[in-house]
Amino acid sequence: MKDTRLQLLIHEKNIGSAQPKLMYPGVTVATVTRVKSPNYLFVDLVISPAAKAGTFPIQFVKDGKSVLTYPYELKAREANSAQRKGYTAADVMYMITPDRFANGNSANDVVAGMPDKANRTGRDARHGGDIQGIANHLDYLQDMGFTALWINPLVENNMPSASYHGYASTDFYKIDPRFGSNEDYRALSKAAQKRGIKLIIDLIVNHCGSSHWWMSDLPTDDWLNFQGDPKMTSHARESIQDPHASEYDKKLHADGWFVSTMPDLNQRNPLLATYLIQNTLWWIEYADLRGIRMDTYPYPDKDFMAEWSRRVMQEYPAFNMVGEEWSLNPALIAFWQKGKTNRNGYVSSMPGMFDFPLQNALVEALNEDDRQYNRGLVKIYQTLSQDFLYERPDNLVTFADNHDMSRFFTQIHEDVALWKMGMIHLLTTRGVPQVYYGTEILMTNPTSDRHDDIRGEMPGGWADHTTSVFTGIGLTEQQRTAKEFLKKLLTWRKSNEAVQTGKLKHFAAREGLYVYVRYTDAQRVLVVMNKSADAKTLDMVKYGEVLAGRKTATDVLTGQTQPLSQPLSVAAKSAVILALD
Ligand code: CA
Repeated sequence: MKDTRLQLLIHEKNIGSAQPKLMYPGVTVATVTRVKSPNYLFVDLVISPAAKAGTFPIQFVKDGKSVLTYPYELKAREANSAQRKGYTAADVMYMITPDRFANGNSANDVVAGMPDKANRTGRDARHGGDIQGIANHLDYLQDMGFTALWINPLVENNMPSASYHGYASTDFYKIDPRFGSNEDYRALSKAAQKRGIKLIIDLIVNHCGSSHWWMSDLPTDDWLNFQGDPKMTSHARESIQDPHASEYDKKLHADGWFVSTMPDLNQRNPLLATYLIQNTLWWIEYADLRGIRMDTYPYPDKDFMAEWSRRVMQEYPAFNMVGEEWSLNPALIAFWQKGKTNRNGYVSSMPGMFDFPLQNALVEALNEDDRQYNRGLVKIYQTLSQDFLYERPDNLVTFADNHDMSRFFTQIHEDVALWKMGMIHLLTTRGVPQVYYGTEILMTNPTSDRHDDIRGEMPGGWADHTTSVFTGIGLTEQQRTAKEFLKKLLTWRKSNEAVQTGKLKHFAAREGLYVYVRYTDAQRVLVVMNKSADAKTLDMVKYGEVLAGRKTATDVLTGQTQPLSQPLSVAAKSAVILALD
């Protein structure tokens, strides 16, 4: 590793008064740190670049006697580990809530010693989906044209209830047995890679679950924020950027707890900070990952997040990561991206963030009446025009919905024509597109936006389902058509450089019409969105500057040739993609 330090956390009754001893070429003990709890010892090692992989005993000695021997394994790194390439805008990310996608192994639905058992009709209960269920359907994802996979957290969440979502970690190093094993997770990553699919881990360093093993024996008095006297976060995220913010607001936002079952971690404690950073690097190495999705980005200590992102990108310069800042204000999101010059001096190494403003704009653009002033498609135009705030708008992750909001099809009132327009925009504008599972078959949450309704079982994922997205059995004609439509778009996108990496140039949206082009030196793609109730005929002279002298184009969805010297007719409530010849 570029950073040759390695800190070990040893947890064992009264280990704090022991002295570690080891003999291994290239490995030295630099410092030993004792903390308030007598049951912890923190040992800083330095691993010289000359050290070889292998297992060596670490002895813990008290009064001249060895009280514990631990065989520590220094694992070999895979070839080119440091050169690993993260996902890019050439990819399309599929997102899965693993408990709700597919149950590939019903034997792990109930695990002895874990109180939150599968109960498919219970509120916020587990349904039994697992890693095997995802592994079983990698061929489906490949066939659809997805090339990256973000799965909600799979680490152990041994909480009394409502633990399926995975954001209440009770062991940062262990896959939850109800999802599978660490080995299963690594095998999934390898199997995905074989199919051209990059695995992205979902991490959370802001909090853990209240049943985390260290909660019954906290190492220090400052392991948690508001330790012993929890206060809830104010969610005043803008206090981070706000030049007028009070210390009260800054502290309550960043140190307050999300909920009482999720203790807020104090990343200003250097031992905990190291633990969390090493944990991230370990997962990248162990599971050969190609990306990270970081939960609740503005909630941990902001200086810690700067160091965390710096350390990850230092080890893997070609890696990629996306952070969650659920704000509709591009200025707040741009603050976190690497390269941004912030007036308060904050320096981040985070390559990407989610584009929540564009998600919101897309839904408003589709739902609103374009005949009203400043309504409709103009929302997309105005939001993208704020890209000047971002260092790398092309590396924002764009999406139509995710696991925390109503299904896209529900948000647009189950209008198939609008859904098609939305998918076309998502897959042709700038950014790295992400699609939530089930979007391809128009999944909805018609009765409520409770998490259980948003995160429904994927049809075909359970043995008793009578419909299956994977085989097509039982799908409605509308669902089948939607799935084929998306597959066609995804497949085409995989081979089109202009929509993957090209620049964006657009024309001010007016009266339900929005026109833009994605272009590289070699390729040009023109997209026309017509949301009005009537067909529109476009005089192509207006678009001369982006046609670059091309005479004809091919309609990507129909395959028909379109002469560019003649007016272009676009049907009501539709979008066309023209690849310029
Ligand atoms: Ca299962």
